[in-house]
Amino acid sequence: MPESLAVRQAAPQRPLYATVVAVRPLAPRMVRITLAGDGLGDFLYAGPDQLVRLFLPVGEELHLPTGSDWWGELQAMPAGLRPVVRNYTVRRIDRARRRIDVDFVLHGDSGPASAWAGAAVPGDRIGVLSDGARYRADGADWQLLIGDETAVPAIASALEGARTPVHTFLEVGDEGDVPDLAGEVNWLHRSGARGSRTVAALRGLSFPAGTPYVWVAGESTLATTVRRYLVNERGIDKDRIYFCGYWRETPAAVRAAATTDREPVAA
Ligand SMILES: Cc1cc2nc3c(=O)[nH]c(=O)nc-3n(C[C@H](O)[C@H](O)[C@H](O)COP(=O)(O)OP(=O)(O)OC[C@H]3O[C@@H](n4cnc5c(N)ncnc54)[C@H](O)[C@@H]3O)c2cc1C
Repeated sequence: MPESLAVRQAAPQRPLYATVVAVRPLAPRMVRITLAGDGLGDFLYAGPDQLVRLFLPVGEELHLPTGSDWWGELQAMPAGLRPVVRNYTVRRIDRARRRIDVDFVLHGDSGPASAWAGAAVPGDRIGVLSDGARYRADGADWQLLIGDETAVPAIASALEGARTPVHTFLEVGDEGDVPDLAGEVNWLHRSGARGSRTVAALRGLSFPAGTPYVWVAGESTLATTVRRYLVNERGIDKDRIYFCGYWRETPAAVRAAATTDREPVAA
């Protein structure tokens, strides 16, 4: 497991089988998939950026690790059976009905998770593993929530529960591609290097008095660029910033040269 994703949680978990029960387009490039399963009644949920690892079938059948050393078991599986693992956010949990909602960015068929979500229908099976949350705004007087399309589910949940003033910046390809969010959002049209529009917009923001909490996630360059700016130029304490590269953009030249051979492991 990548160290950056190691998180606090109550007990070791193992992947659970879940079934797609609803597929609802939220916007042209985002779909909400509702998953149901007996084990989801006990699914650990610790906050708005609750991480769920999704185990996607590689063939007709889904084979899941059975113990808490899911990573070790996964590596020992034959390649033809080993599910592909990708990280997502739980947008909503309904323990009584044993269901969770996951919102997927549809970025085409180059990624197994996006391809799976784009074609998902009720009855499809998938594996899910709760893996903790990182958002911790306790003690903050105000918050800065920043991301791209992939951070929309977590930011939407954080906005719903926020008890302090929040400034939200979302750098996206097209605002119409993702669902609208409650509250005031600064929608920034991506251009140039990832994160550059966000930094330009942040330069115009007068920070409120008091202790901030910053949560920034999305494409890796966006997350690191924004954090660097906030620490180096705005003097925000590193301890007050959570940042995470949710995915890494593949340079066009690498994409063009890519073969179809993929290592089916966690992103
Ligand atoms: C903690 C965490 C929570 C996350 N939550 C969500 C979530 O709720 N919803 C969500 O949609 N994503 C979320 N992500 C991001 C998601 O895991 C990645 O986008 C992942 O790479 C998608 O897997 P894939 O199989 O579709 O593509 P991959 O096989 O990983 O990548 C294939 C190609 O697609 C490109 N690519 C990957 N993601 C994107 C994208 N979003 N836009 C454009 N190109 C892309 C890659 O650069 C690569 O060239 C989260 C990531 C983390 C770490």
